[in-house]
Amino acid sequence: MQQVDTLITGGLILPSDEAFSQIADGAVAIAAGRIAAIGPTAEITAAYTAPDVIDATDHLVMPGLINAHVHSADALFRSLIGDMPLEPWLEQLWVAEKAYVRPDTVRLAARLAYAEMIRGGITAALDMYWFPEESARVAREVGFRLATGPIYFDMPEPDGIPITERTTRARDFLDAYAADPLITPIISPHSTYTVSPRYLEEAAALAAEYGIGLHTHAAETAAEVADVVERFGATPIGHLDALGLLGERTVLAHCVHVTPAEIELLAARGVSVAHCPVCNLKMGSGIAPVPAMRAAGVRVLLGTDGPVSSNDLDLWTAMRFAAVLHRGLTHDPTFHPPAQVVRMVTADAARGLGLGLGEVTGSLEVGRRADIILLDLQQPHLMPLYDAPSYLAYSAGRDDVTTVLIDGQVVMRDRQLQTIDLPATLAEVAALGATIGAAMRPA
Ligand SMILES: [Zn+2]
Repeated sequence: MQQVDTLITGGLILPSDEAFSQIADGAVAIAAGRIAAIGPTAEITAAYTAPDVIDATDHLVMPGLINAHVHSADALFRSLIGDMPLEPWLEQLWVAEKAYVRPDTVRLAARLAYAEMIRGGITAALDMYWFPEESARVAREVGFRLATGPIYFDMPEPDGIPITERTTRARDFLDAYAADPLITPIISPHSTYTVSPRYLEEAAALAAEYGIGLHTHAAETAAEVADVVERFGATPIGHLDALGLLGERTVLAHCVHVTPAEIELLAARGVSVAHCPVCNLKMGSGIAPVPAMRAAGVRVLLGTDGPVSSNDLDLWTAMRFAAVLHRGLTHDPTFHPPAQVVRMVTADAARGLGLGLGEVTGSLEVGRRADIILLDLQQPHLMPLYDAPSYLAYSAGRDDVTTVLIDGQVVMRDRQLQTIDLPATLAEVAALGATIGAAMRPA
């Protein structure tokens, strides 16, 4: 018998592997944060013992979900700003961020967002926010997998870094997290409308120098496209391409307003698109032409966007929208079949989130890091279970997630967070929220 750290036994396992296989009564052995073995429970328990055995009877066991676009620490401003178009909405958000975004508030808000995401079965996220070193620090503390890194933004607020110094300051972060088990460093220029061409080029050069991913917003609204065309004589996609920002390590959030020719370009460049259907609908931005992207061969991932624009970090709702929204437009009930929707938030997402993660997470296979979630199948909305992928795409929700492991560590067990003091976090957020609300929304 071989000793491992943790065994998960007796579950319906959906590894999200290449064959999209299932194991009816399956088990996973975890050692030193990695999946050491996976197979029928009888075989695994005959070969391995562990001090921690998680009984997954009547549970589905699958890779943790990956949120491909989020601003975690925007959680402090959830519902602060009312319903309006993106551009004036952003102006108000930036006023709030300038006043309240500091290292300590970013740490608190990041902890709140990681608690929400872990409870919803999300084990990794592609994050963009001020003070990324603080978001990364909290992710390390609570055991959350995060792709994040230095941002580029022409205005020096709220982190006080002039645009001329961002590249120099960025190197500190990139060097600190060059070989971290949980943090994947990336470069995040905010957008073509908030970062000057010279610094977009500098951001791309820095990402290339370090061989890391690049994450930015593009073509979210029609107004953004018109503004960028007027200022630079090119659409956001054309502008990014001319400046050398489109490549296989690039993740573009949104791409709602893109032409057929631009979709071909995104496919040719190997760009990943983070589709954020709930945010785009809530903000009235439009509906991304995902069927055309799929037809062209663009890799499409799924994101929630920040809690201030989408109001929650629920990737199950995003999955449901990704599955059904485009069918309503195309009258094609076969578009985005459930298995493809599951892949969007697991294996495909891992491949799209910067270099190397495709071999690290996103599926349950021997040698991968153990990012695993368990869902309780004994629920009225999940019975009877004929087809697990359909259940995941159309029926399951955040509350069905019972237990979450990230990098082999149990971060939630039977709905109880293990690495975050949730009551204390909520009390701190409520207190700060009262202060922000009193100042920003006077009665
Ligand atoms: Zn965003």
